[in-house]
Amino acid sequence: MKLIFAYIRKHLGIFLLSTLFLTMEAMADLLQPALMSGIVDKGIKNASVRQICGYGAVMLGIALTGAVCAVVRNRFASKVSQTIGKELRRDMYHNVSLLSMENIDRLRPASIITRITNDVAQVQEFINGIMRIMVKAPITCIGAVALIMVQTPRQAPVMAAVLLVVSGLVLANMGIGYPRFGTVQRRIDGLNGVAREFLSSVRVVKAFRAEEEETEKFAEASLALARANTAALRTMAVFSPLINLTVNFGIVLLLWISGDGEGREIGRLMASVNYMTQVLFAVTMIANTLNTAVRAVASAERIKEVLDERPAQELPERPLRPRIVGDIRFEQVSFAYGGAGKEALHDMDIHIRSGETIGIIGATGSGKSTLVNLVPRFYDVTAGRILIDGCDVTQIDPAHLRAAIGVVPQKALLFTGTIRENLRWGREDAGEEELQAAARTACAEEFIKGSGQGYDTLLGQGGVNLSGGQKQRLSIARALVRSPQILILDDCTSALDAQTEAQVLSGLRSAVGRMTVLLVSQRISTVMGADRILCMDNGHMEGYGTHEELMASCRSYQEIYRSQIGREEEACDG
Ligand code: ADP
Ligand code: MG
Repeated sequence: MKLIFAYIRKHLGIFLLSTLFLTMEAMADLLQPALMSGIVDKGIKNASVRQICGYGAVMLGIALTGAVCAVVRNRFASKVSQTIGKELRRDMYHNVSLLSMENIDRLRPASIITRITNDVAQVQEFINGIMRIMVKAPITCIGAVALIMVQTPRQAPVMAAVLLVVSGLVLANMGIGYPRFGTVQRRIDGLNGVAREFLSSVRVVKAFRAEEEETEKFAEASLALARANTAALRTMAVFSPLINLTVNFGIVLLLWISGDGEGREIGRLMASVNYMTQVLFAVTMIANTLNTAVRAVASAERIKEVLDERPAQELPERPLRPRIVGDIRFEQVSFAYGGAGKEALHDMDIHIRSGETIGIIGATGSGKSTLVNLVPRFYDVTAGRILIDGCDVTQIDPAHLRAAIGVVPQKALLFTGTIRENLRWGREDAGEEELQAAARTACAEEFIKGSGQGYDTLLGQGGVNLSGGQKQRLSIARALVRSPQILILDDCTSALDAQTEAQVLSGLRSAVGRMTVLLVSQRISTVMGADRILCMDNGHMEGYGTHEELMASCRSYQEIYRSQIGREEEACDG
């Protein structure tokens, strides 16, 4: 709630203006029955056309004023709620962009998406709601009760009793509804998670003919959401009719009381019933708004979690911006992912000199990606430290650090846009020639030129219209555009044929000059030519040295060699 009001406060001017119009609107509504009773009790009774017309004209004028107020107030209300929605989304998005991978792992991307879209919509609806009823409902209730008391004092107790019962019902409704709407939002998260997983890996799902399983998972999540929704709406279904019933019962009581009174005036009776209906309407509005309030509070809490999430990484107070040459030192580095009991890296001690190309090899899950992700500080070490040119990475300005590092992730991620735009992610102000040089080194030039509009060719989301190898080459080119001092290639030549791969690697070696390259691969042929090779197994360093040294001393390396190359040689011999 605090959060919602903090955002409303920013638009207090319009908000108050809108309440002013709302008040006038409520007054206009209240005056109508009183005037009507005038027409009936005075005009019709006295058969005076002049009086009838007079009252009629005033009624019309007031109705018009009310209508104008309603239109203006509506515009303000939607403006405020839309603006607040926009601000909430912007602030959440901004905060998420500051978070480290650890935070994102914890919040889960699917949940972040639901919070930015659905939860914000709930809050918006609530704000719109309070701007529709906030002052109007109380004014209508109090005004109607007051007018009934003035016009027909005998009916006041009935009115009070009805209001009391109805208030009780509204409160009970809120108490029961609150936790249920929280569940609904969590179920929406679940559904989004399943849908996201399915849609982002639709090819794999189809390849493994797992559509049925995935559909089933989706159906399950969908059913869970439906159940939660039903449970939440059931509370409303029970309480809305109860509230209606109470008020209608009150009307009957009113009629009955006035029925046996003497000197009854039909006009006043009509007005009373009319006021009673207005009260009913106001109370229903309050109940509805309180329902959206319950949802909005649940949603606001979830929004707040995103807004309050602080980056898991502490930034240095006085960030250093050293000249980065590319000398990297791992000192007794251990690392465990948040929530994982087992260490993904254990006691790594390595020195990588600037300008060296280091091959990193090991089975899947041996910790290769984890190791290289520590260098640009995507994650922070759990123990030990990493020095770049003698400077602890945690002390370096992250933007400065990352500007010196080109990362080609294991999964080539391209974005919707042209090839040129994608390459410029490497460096915004890169010139045309730099883009072309990078593309040439990455062996991407040929297919870029061959594809329709060259560098202006549009890529779909995630680069769906490219082959795996083309995506990999583009993402290598993108990293090269930055002309980094340190280049991280995380198993990103896996989809290239051996010849193209060799071409890319030799191109890198000649084009880059003195760049430190971390070359992760599962193929021994890829890393064999590196200056030194790091052999990983299960988070441990098994060996570190040249190909010859490792062949002589490292059992794991020998095994990999035998399994990948030895057999081919044997096959050739035989
Ligand atoms: P490799 O790149 O050598 O295949 P990784 O570095 O990706 O291996 O993974 C090393 C270990 O860390 C694996 O056991 C993997 O399950 C685990 N791991 C990788 N990423 C995460 C993550 N984001 N959260 C938790 N555990 C992870
Ligand atoms: Mg990996």
